[in-house]
Amino acid sequence: MYVAYNRVRGNAKNHLAVVTVKRGACGGCFNQIPPQRQLDIVQSKKIIICEYCGRILVSPDFEQTNE
Ligand SMILES: [Zn+2]
Repeated sequence: MYVAYNRVRGNAKNHLAVVTVKRGACGGCFNQIPPQRQLDIVQSKKIIICEYCGRILVSPDFEQTNE
């Protein structure tokens, strides 16, 4: 868990931002995300990168638990 956190932090420093999925679309570039990919994001099976803008996608629930 700690390693994964640092990996995301490190990516953020390398011009990669973390955005939430909003209404089935990337929160960064607003392109639609395929349903299967949305499912992977919600279930947090793996780190999903937006294929359009390269941002790291997380579910809105993930953001809420961090607050
Ligand atoms: Zn995007």
